[in-house]
Amino acid sequence: MSQVAPFPAEFARNLPKAELHVHLEGSVGPGTLLALADKHGVVPPAFDEDGIEDWFRTDSFPGFLERYFFVCRLLRDPDDFRRVAYDYLATAHDQGAVHVEFHVSSSYHIVEQGADWSSILAGIVAGCDDAQDAYGVSSLLIPDLSPHLGAEAGHRALDFVLTNLHDRVVAIGMGGPSDTWRTDDYGACFDRARASGLRAVSHAGEHGSAWEVRHAIEDFGAERIQHGIGAMQDPDVVRFIVDEGIACDVCPASNVALAAVSSMREHPLADMLDAGITVTLGSDDPPLMSTNLLAEYEHAWTLASLDESGLRELADNSLVESFAPVAQVEQWLTSGGSRS
Ligand SMILES: [Zn+2]
Repeated sequence: MSQVAPFPAEFARNLPKAELHVHLEGSVGPGTLLALADKHGVVPPAFDEDGIEDWFRTDSFPGFLERYFFVCRLLRDPDDFRRVAYDYLATAHDQGAVHVEFHVSSSYHIVEQGADWSSILAGIVAGCDDAQDAYGVSSLLIPDLSPHLGAEAGHRALDFVLTNLHDRVVAIGMGGPSDTWRTDDYGACFDRARASGLRAVSHAGEHGSAWEVRHAIEDFGAERIQHGIGAMQDPDVVRFIVDEGIACDVCPASNVALAAVSSMREHPLADMLDAGITVTLGSDDPPLMSTNLLAEYEHAWTLASLDESGLRELADNSLVESFAPVAQVEQWLTSGGSRS
């Protein structure tokens, strides 16, 4: 890697940008975790924020899931969901995000916990509304189906998602506690969601192969892929996603933290950009990955030896590839000063 110029942090912060790959439940930081544990009488894994930060660090997918679901189990009433949505949107706004699309683990809450989706949704929407009022930040929701539960469970989760549609619910996604795909066919779940007017995205090619990426596009109709780094294993799949205009919502720090790549230097982000893939940057589960949205722009700056126009292109990609209304996207694009 050649010598890289210092990252222009303020320039990056000031770029209007969207975050399209962040999990609501994975956005909960140490302070909120401790407050929720106290509220619900749960013994936390550590008793101060430094201790929780240490506990968050893990280099394995099972270790990550253990922490992720510990946080999920602390989210019990609508106000908990309101709080975490609002808090993350405030954080994202501080980093220049004008729009966030939250993945929400709907299969977990609905199927595994038996929770009431309508009250969860009401809480999240209240947090999104409050953050929009306070900061002007826009947000949409993507309920995720989980690959480890099977398509029948996916349909059960969808029953609740589709009977509680809201303007903020824009798509369904596929993502959850499986680091590679099972063979169950979720295509019919996505067809059902599409028939109700929802868009489609999917995690694929994180730890898994290029095949997953093609499968998610062809069988689920995914319009964006979360991660997608595995596509680089197969030039035919790379050509396919470029030809189809499918964006990959890439999270370099997460990929390193969960050993999908062996080190940051080995991350294929630069090769993805060179291949013509449309990339947006996300932080995935930021406190769990010791990252944030701006840090992901810094990783991209270093990995791909970007200049300021390269950073702007990534920010613009995130706006254009979002599911926000086109007129709103145009407004954001022009609000960021002259396009390079
Ligand atoms: Zn993710």
